[in-house]
Amino acid sequence: MTPDKASVALVVPLYNEEALTHILVREIETFRRDRPEIQEILLIDDGSRDDTFRNLVALTDGLDGYVLVRFSRNFGHQLAVTAGLDLVTANAAVIMDADLQDPLEVAGRMIDTWREGYDVVYGIRRERGGMSFTERWTARVFYRVFRRFSGIDAPLDAGDFRLVSRRVMDAWKDLSEQQPYVRGLIAWLGFNQTGIEYDRPARVAGTSKYPMVKRLQLALDGLASFSAQPLRLAVRLGLLVSAGSVFGLLWVLVTKYVLGTAITGWASLIFVGFFFGGVQLFFLGVVGSYVARVYDEVKGRPRYVVQEIRTSRSHGAEQNGNDVVGEDRTGEQGI
Ligand code: UDP
Ligand code: MG
Repeated sequence: MTPDKASVALVVPLYNEEALTHILVREIETFRRDRPEIQEILLIDDGSRDDTFRNLVALTDGLDGYVLVRFSRNFGHQLAVTAGLDLVTANAAVIMDADLQDPLEVAGRMIDTWREGYDVVYGIRRERGGMSFTERWTARVFYRVFRRFSGIDAPLDAGDFRLVSRRVMDAWKDLSEQQPYVRGLIAWLGFNQTGIEYDRPARVAGTSKYPMVKRLQLALDGLASFSAQPLRLAVRLGLLVSAGSVFGLLWVLVTKYVLGTAITGWASLIFVGFFFGGVQLFFLGVVGSYVARVYDEVKGRPRYVVQEIRTSRSHGAEQNGNDVVGEDRTGEQGI
């Protein structure tokens, strides 16, 4: 089936979101009444341990266009988005969070902008609802550091909430990174990109599935996959310390032979020893994290494993009234 020229998909990852599945499906259905171009809704259950998937199956029963994908375990938000993009058949897709922090009304504006001829329409967060002062500022600082280090034209304050055209999705399929940093890679792909501003509300129900540790990991993944600057930093710091030590040596010689006093001080020696021990271990860690990434790539494992895919159909479309075509794909490997 070739999709209609203007068909659009929604790609929504969910992890332990049983508290909001009903709100999500209800809101999508309401939105679709005014937006018939939304013909495909990919809901990717990223290995939830609660009733998320069961709820989705029940809620989409009899509704048209839903594709429910269930991962065999939690692979992470970025890979859930990747799986969604891999499966889209529509002409464009909007990546959005399940908690409606990425409002459907803004998705509508993205679709309008796409129709004007853009390939990527990303959402720029003006206000961030439901985030603490520290989270807000660390996010702001990170986007700026990322842009500087990566050297790519990544938009500031834009998350993964964005529309991508078919061309972008086709190019996306050639990227096979083990830990894809979605927003960075889409910026890297290029094409006609533009942003629209929106205020980000708080989530509609449930709690954040992105604790600070995961957030930090995502930030480090993003930096490591786009920049070798941290490695170069080790070289620069090494040179600086070596140069500094020459001055230190001169100082020792001057005090001994000119001023006639040898410097005493066990404490200062120990301090310097520990300090540079720390610096060396830190950079060993930095190098190690790059090596680990190389190791991950070399193993070439599938990036995610799909346990099950279900496609919903409206009751009218099925002869036997069985609206959900269940397909058990246990053990199937990700694309
Ligand atoms: N999510 C996911 N896998 C994870 C963590 C989160 O699929 O391991 C989904 C989550 O269900 C939500 C989206 O990613 O739809 C964004 O997560 P969340 O709203 O918790 O992040 P925040 O908005 O707090 O940054
Ligand atoms: Mg959220």
